[in-house]
Amino acid sequence: MRIARFQDPAGNVHYGVPIDEANANRLEGDLYQGLSETGDTVAVSNWLAPVAAVNIFGIGLNYRAHAEETGAQIPEHPILFMKPTTSATGPSDPILLPASCDRGPEVDYEAELAVVIGRAAKDVSEAQALDYVLGYTCSNDVSARRWQKHGGARQWVRGKSFDAFCPLGPVLVTADEIPDPQNLEVRCVLNGETMQSGNTSDMIFSVAQLIAHLSRDTTLLPGTLILTGTPPGVGFARKPPVFLADGDIVRVEIEGIGVLENSVINAG
Ligand code: ZN
Repeated sequence: MRIARFQDPAGNVHYGVPIDEANANRLEGDLYQGLSETGDTVAVSNWLAPVAAVNIFGIGLNYRAHAEETGAQIPEHPILFMKPTTSATGPSDPILLPASCDRGPEVDYEAELAVVIGRAAKDVSEAQALDYVLGYTCSNDVSARRWQKHGGARQWVRGKSFDAFCPLGPVLVTADEIPDPQNLEVRCVLNGETMQSGNTSDMIFSVAQLIAHLSRDTTLLPGTLILTGTPPGVGFARKPPVFLADGDIVRVEIEGIGVLENSVINAG
C-alpha cells in the first residue's frame, strides 16, 4: 500500500492513498495497528510527511562510492547521528536556507532511502530485522556543510538539525511492496540535472544490519526513521561545488517509492 498523510481544507489530518495531486482515498485506523479503506474521496490542501517521526537516525558514509568521493575511509561501524523531529517536513513544503548560514552557500542535498520502524524493536537479529519495518519513504538529509564540519565541535548534528532539513515523502510504501530494499535506484535531481545516482546495493551496512546494530540495548519505537546514507554526487564533493540556492527545485527519486520534490527558499 502507498500511504500518504495530509490535511484536508478544514485542517484535519488524515492518512490516505493519493488519487491525484489534490485528492486522496481516506484511510482510517492506526498506522501501526493497521489502516483500512473507507471509500471516501477527500480533498487535500497540504501533503504532510507520511509519518510523524518519533526519532530520526542518520547514517553517515554508508555508500562505498560516496565514502570514496569524500576521501573518507570505509567505516568499520555505522556512523550514527540524529536529526531532531523538528527538522522533518513534508513534500508540499520548502527547504529553508537558515539565516545562520550567512557566510556563503553551504546547504547541500543528500537523497536517502528512509526506513520506517513499525513495531518496537530491541535486540533484533539481522535475520529478523526486516520484520520490524513498516515501510519505506524518500528523504533528503539536508546538510549545512560549514556547520557540519566546523560549527559542531566534530559532531555532525548541528549542521543537520535546522528546521526543514529533513523532507520526507511523498508516500510511505509498505514493506510488502519492497521485498528487497538492497536493490533500489536512488537519484537526486537539482533543477532538472541529475546530481546523485546510485543503488542501495552499494550500501556498506544493509538495512537489516543497521536495524540490528541500532536496536542493541536500544528500543526503536514505532515511528522511528533511519536515513540510510546517500549515494555519490553530493554538492560539496563536486568540482566546482554545488550548493542549494533560493529558487532551486530538488527532487529525491527512489525506485518503487516515488519522487519527493521540494523548493528551496531563504528563511531569513
Ligand atoms: Zn545523509
